[in-house]
Amino acid sequence: MSKQKVLILGGGYGGIVTAQRLQKKLHYNEAEITLVNKHDYHYITTELHQPAAGTMHHDRARVDINDLLNTKRVNFVQDTVVSINTEEKKVQLENGEQEYDHLVISLGSEPETFGIEGLKENAFSIRSINSVRYIREHIEYMFAKYKNEPEREDYLRFVVGGAGFTGIEFVGELADRLPKLCKEFDVDPERVKIINIEAAPTALPGFDPELVEYAMDVLRKKGVEFKIDTPIKECTPEGVVLADGEEIKAGTIVWTGGVRGNSIVENAGIETMRGRVKVDEYLRAPGFEDIFVVGDCALIINEEINRPYPPTAQMAIQMAMNLSLNLVAVVRGQPKLLRQFQPEIKGTVASLGKGEAIGIVGKKKIFGPIASLMKKIIDLRYLFIIGGIPLVLRKGRF
Ligand SMILES: Cc1cc2nc3c(=O)[nH]c(=O)nc-3n(C[C@H](O)[C@H](O)[C@H](O)COP(=O)(O)OP(=O)(O)OC[C@H]3O[C@@H](n4cnc5c(N)ncnc54)[C@H](O)[C@@H]3O)c2cc1C
Repeated sequence: MSKQKVLILGGGYGGIVTAQRLQKKLHYNEAEITLVNKHDYHYITTELHQPAAGTMHHDRARVDINDLLNTKRVNFVQDTVVSINTEEKKVQLENGEQEYDHLVISLGSEPETFGIEGLKENAFSIRSINSVRYIREHIEYMFAKYKNEPEREDYLRFVVGGAGFTGIEFVGELADRLPKLCKEFDVDPERVKIINIEAAPTALPGFDPELVEYAMDVLRKKGVEFKIDTPIKECTPEGVVLADGEEIKAGTIVWTGGVRGNSIVENAGIETMRGRVKVDEYLRAPGFEDIFVVGDCALIINEEINRPYPPTAQMAIQMAMNLSLNLVAVVRGQPKLLRQFQPEIKGTVASLGKGEAIGIVGKKKIFGPIASLMKKIIDLRYLFIIGGIPLVLRKGRF
């Protein structure tokens, strides 16, 4: 009998952890496991706000996929997924095709623009190593450009759309980085402005109000200006236009205002809500016994508040761990061993730049250097999960 084909799309948190667990749990003659990813490296998305601002080199936030997998057990294919044909059980790649018996979709998210005109074309987003390298280079270029056109103060204006988790983490890093660039380019720091714009009535919607106040205080002291309850209507090559008609000219606009699932999933004819698949208790796509979805592409409702769990790395890792058990059960034809997925939210910590953070761990609120230390521990824990002590020593920031 030929081996069953398990095909994993996307080598982020969901995909890598699924592949690593499967390579240990399944015997080599039980299944052929293949992982497809756009790049030959895995990136640590939760750290990308740092290389985007230039406070960390992007190489620290990526790891070669071949260093993470046992390539005798998992075939790694570096390619881009183009489409999924659920009827023929085939996946079209840019440079080939893959067949599957069991498919895992872990392709991550795409920026959600909420229909704001010009956002896609004119704003940067923090979503990959390539995108953050581009942002960092652009920021430096704006300083260099300003030195040659000193009347253009808008070159030194940085608009960050969205004061959610990613937006807040990014402005914290940017506020640390810009004074250094002022020194390097002989620019008066008074000329530089970071404006963080949020449509919701509060920054960090969903976070504890005391923590939100603390975060905004820290960031204001670092020079960040907030415009809360202020929707952006349009994004142009010169800046943003707010709902009340005010125009803010800025040389750099970074959009962090929301994410949606990957459009490849929507186009595959799988039922989605804003690109995310409302998976069943075993993480299967509705109506498909052979398709599992994890990470940002999956949607799970928190019954306590009747709202979806936010898409986080924590969720992606937990889903991948559960899914690997379920895949072993289906490959072995043991449906009774399928396990229901139960998220266990251990807490959330948001960094506010060097030495500052806020968070909730268990039910306890944490602030300042303790929260910052906790953030580092969380990052190190992930490196340990995927690469043990050697990876912690190689990539960890102490
Ligand atoms: C700046 C920032 C900070 C964050 N901080 C936190 C945090 O502190 N804590 C937390 O829990 N969460 C955090 N998040 C959210 C977290 O990073 C995501 O929820 C998590 O990455 C989702 O994992 P995933 O496996 O679904 O997708 P990803 O990790 O995004 O992986 C998707 C993978 O699929 C690949 N891919 C995409 N399209 C294709 C294609 N067509 N073909 C081939 N490959 C493809 C990508 O290259 C990538 O490798 C943060 C996010 C950002 C942007």
